[in-house]
Amino acid sequence: MMHRKKRSDGKNQSLETIVAGNGDMGFVREVAKRSGTDLSACFHCRCCAGGCPFIEAMDYAPHGVIRLAQLGMRDEVLQSATIWTCVGCHTCSIACPMAVDMAAVMDALRQIAIESDAAIAEPDVLDFHREVLRSIERYGRTHKLEIMMRYKVKTRDWFTDMDVGLRMLAKRKLDLMPSRVRNTKDLKRMFRENAEGGTP
Ligand code: SF4
Ligand code: SF4
Repeated sequence: MMHRKKRSDGKNQSLETIVAGNGDMGFVREVAKRSGTDLSACFHCRCCAGGCPFIEAMDYAPHGVIRLAQLGMRDEVLQSATIWTCVGCHTCSIACPMAVDMAAVMDALRQIAIESDAAIAEPDVLDFHREVLRSIERYGRTHKLEIMMRYKVKTRDWFTDMDVGLRMLAKRKLDLMPSRVRNTKDLKRMFRENAEGGTP
């Protein structure tokens, strides 16, 4: 049986405490295979957590996700906010003395979460990822203004970060019209093959 309870670190942040139960031990092998990372190498030195710029928005610290996976706590991992809060900046991967590629592990976990219809802890983040991918499929590049507009329509959250958007427009960081790569044939084929392979 798996349990979860909150703990406080004494500051602003509250991370989850891991209480182990009977885990799915095939899960860690699946994550290791997909990420190309040996999760058993992690000895929980917490260097990854120390440098992560987004740890305050996470429910489990990055090494906590590794620990959950080591214990086979599949649901806890796949339903965690951490796997969606991670931006794949690789700060932790560079810091890790055991060469655990945390960013690749998070990628693998997001993939498995989608494929297995897990409850997504941060659906807005997933929506944003999808809009970025749609833009790349359409233009071969990201058209940031369109991505932001489509994301706003989807989430119906019109005013959060409006000031940032206006400042970016004023500084010409957002192009009004998209720019395209010349040849999108290979790109479209890649997206088509990926869709046929079952990954959204
Ligand atoms: S830095 Fe590497 S070894 Fe240390 S806790 Fe993080 S993943 Fe594990
Ligand atoms: S890759 Fe993810 S977990 Fe690692 S430091 Fe960056 S945001 Fe944090």
